[in-house]
Amino acid sequence: MVQYYDQGTSSPRWRAFKIRLFIALALAMFTFVSYLMKGDRNPITGERQRVSLTVDQEIALGLESRSEMVAQHGGLHSDPRARAEVQRIGARLLKALETDLTREGKADPYKFDFHLLADDRTVNAFALPGGQVFITYALFSQLQTEGQVAGVIGHEIGHVLSRHSAQRIAKMELTQGLAGAAGVAGGTRSTAEIAAMVGNLINMKYGRSDELEADKWGIRLATQAGYDPRAMLGVMDILDRVGGGNQPEILSTHPKPANRKEYIEGVIKDVFPKGVPEGLDE
Ligand SMILES: [Zn+2]
Repeated sequence: MVQYYDQGTSSPRWRAFKIRLFIALALAMFTFVSYLMKGDRNPITGERQRVSLTVDQEIALGLESRSEMVAQHGGLHSDPRARAEVQRIGARLLKALETDLTREGKADPYKFDFHLLADDRTVNAFALPGGQVFITYALFSQLQTEGQVAGVIGHEIGHVLSRHSAQRIAKMELTQGLAGAAGVAGGTRSTAEIAAMVGNLINMKYGRSDELEADKWGIRLATQAGYDPRAMLGVMDILDRVGGGNQPEILSTHPKPANRKEYIEGVIKDVFPKGVPEGLDE
């Protein structure tokens, strides 16, 4: 019996596997612990978050990538009045944010810029970490009111303030580290691929709550700036209609437009329990 036991556990293959498993566990542990240690308090929300970039690094990264984003979407739109309108609506939202933060004794550490992209085919809006916000002409031209533009831009400002990109980057680092560890243990690529898929699922789940959080910011900022928050419901109808098969940032269908509308209605009810007041800008 003893002999059988020894034979079973000390075969060279078993020992090699044990060593690989040990290295993999150590790697996974290291990756996970360094992920856990990436804590930082969000300067706006006060929430503790796992991010691997400082606010200054986020701003620098956004500024560095700005021209690349503009180039990918056919440059800035040629109409200076349309560009100025996007900047003016963005500035109105920022002013509302500033008033809000001053009341809470906080300051906005980001460097926001609002860009209207010439791209008239890709319906999209997105933000780089640190405050570079973009909207394509294809989306801008679909929006019917200033309040709708404010809702979209406010949503993107929200992604910046909640540091969603920085969180996503930290999560990607975790996923890559864990996938590497799984590859070491299994010695095969498919195990690593499975780990990567699991990682993607995690990211997608976070994506959904990120979108809802950004919607909440959009409603909050638009309302503070004097826009009727119900404009955001109109945005969802437009996105639903023009959405099609692709999933650009703002169309991100994880929460389906119908579900998002329900959520938005809930947030509006929280902000205005007695109904939305009259006289807000549409
Ligand atoms: Zn979004």
